[in-house]
Amino acid sequence: MSKIDYKSHKVIKGISANSGIAIGKVVCIDNKGRKVHPNIITESEVEVHLKAFRNGRELLVQELSGMLDYLDPSSSAIIETQKQIVLDSEVERRVESIIKDELLSGDYAIYKTFCDFIERLKESGSELFRQRIVDLENLRDRFIDIICKDEQGVTIEKGTILVTKELSPTELVALHSEGLIGLVMERSGVTSHAALIAQSLEIPCIVSAKNATAKALNTTGVLDGKEGLLILDPEEELLDTYKAKLQKLKNTQKRLLKNISEPSHTKSGTEFFLSANVEFESELTQLKKYNASNIGLLRTEGLIFSNRIAFQEQIKFYESVLSSTDGWVTFRLFDVGGDKLSDKIPEEANPFLGWRGIRMLLDEKHLLETQLKALLICAGKNKGRVKILVPMISVEEEILQLKQVISELQNYLVHSGHAIDEDIALGAMIEVPSAALNAENLAKHLDFMSIGTNDLTQYTMAVDRGNEKICSLYQQYHPSLWKLIKITSEAASKTNTEITVCGELAGNVLGACGLFGLGIKNLSMISNAIPKVKEELISHSDSEFIELAESFLEASNTTQIKEIFEDWRIY
Ligand code: PEP
Ligand code: MG
Repeated sequence: MSKIDYKSHKVIKGISANSGIAIGKVVCIDNKGRKVHPNIITESEVEVHLKAFRNGRELLVQELSGMLDYLDPSSSAIIETQKQIVLDSEVERRVESIIKDELLSGDYAIYKTFCDFIERLKESGSELFRQRIVDLENLRDRFIDIICKDEQGVTIEKGTILVTKELSPTELVALHSEGLIGLVMERSGVTSHAALIAQSLEIPCIVSAKNATAKALNTTGVLDGKEGLLILDPEEELLDTYKAKLQKLKNTQKRLLKNISEPSHTKSGTEFFLSANVEFESELTQLKKYNASNIGLLRTEGLIFSNRIAFQEQIKFYESVLSSTDGWVTFRLFDVGGDKLSDKIPEEANPFLGWRGIRMLLDEKHLLETQLKALLICAGKNKGRVKILVPMISVEEEILQLKQVISELQNYLVHSGHAIDEDIALGAMIEVPSAALNAENLAKHLDFMSIGTNDLTQYTMAVDRGNEKICSLYQQYHPSLWKLIKITSEAASKTNTEITVCGELAGNVLGACGLFGLGIKNLSMISNAIPKVKEELISHSDSEFIELAESFLEASNTTQIKEIFEDWRIY
């Protein structure tokens, strides 16, 4: 499509959080956070307020559970977390103490408890944590609405593009079921929960759209998610252009899903393997839809964050993952630290360079051994289906120490009568430049290597992956990354070690094509990225991918790499 001239239009600009096009009625809601004032109650009213709190909590949990029935799996995980917050014992203790000990009303007790948590998040240096504030504010307000029996706020007509300051996941899910087709938020960032849910609901979404609520009118609008634009009251010609573009997008989606059951071969007949990245149990149901029988990366940190690290709870989780698919599962050991914080990690001046991943696990033997024991037992019951992946390896000694722990545990399990998988595969995340540069030596101790391009980008570019101020420097296509990947891929073929990429680069068409060109045929990605990656890989021959990767390696900057890819795709 030729470049669109927006000059004659009123346009709201933001940052793309989900691509796609929506054409519909623009509705603006200027929602403001609630304020609740302390109301003193008498001793005799305490029971009534405690009961109202408990009933309200039950209703809110029911409301959240109701949403799970029709929600996409990755969104369900966010709603599940909200349920856990509402049911959290610390929330209960504080709310009840405010009612009983301070003799203040139930609505205020909830308000105060949530506000205290929000204040703590505000003080956190993490951008990711700060982006959760809106979710907590909305959960708080909905809780109070229920207690005070206020009607639920916003309702919309089918086909609405909503412009708002920010939106909670629950509001978004509710509005989607009423027919919301596009979302523009003034404040939220691309990793806010509402943005993540918009992605899984496949609603075009733009965020950080400054003053959008002041500019939006009740008119027709076109939301171009990819360009980060909301065009208000478009002229006939522009509207027709977008209608055609929308139709083309719909046709492409249909075609992509059809490819899913085709064999995974390039035009030259070389087989490639696309597996899924999974973080939440609820994502497991998506595997079938995208024909992914293997899980190339199972993140386990969620067990720590949801306080499910007891041995039996881990076994239950790992078994439920294994029973959801017939293929193999790459379980990554706990990767806490960096931006994946928990109360286990003390405050550090440079958390991303600190006590993270394997560094922490080798010091916290009990945590490591409990996880390994649970995984080894599951592996014994599911021979050949469990792989273990170690995060944040930067030196060879870490692998050797870990292998020693695994071998002692295997011996212990055999002696105590458990079946084990003697050939259980052990792999390392290659996500630190020292590991990539030294991959040939590391590979000698490993069954496989999995390149984590998210962290490899962060550590190569020296850019905190969550820091919005410097996000333009977080360049996963940068030539330096391709050079490190080439070294790792060559090390794998020299040592005959399996190699996979499980960072975001694998789930991106430019990335997948370049990676295949560097000899990497195993790619693991968020499962809904599989169709588009597959379509690209089956459409070209091996020599074309190799040529592309060679050009990437010769480029001197990211812009050139993007241009090379666009030209390569056209011809
Ligand atoms: C990576 O770093 O590329 C990766 C897959 O791990 P995470 O994003 O969980 O750090
Ligand atoms: Mg990582």
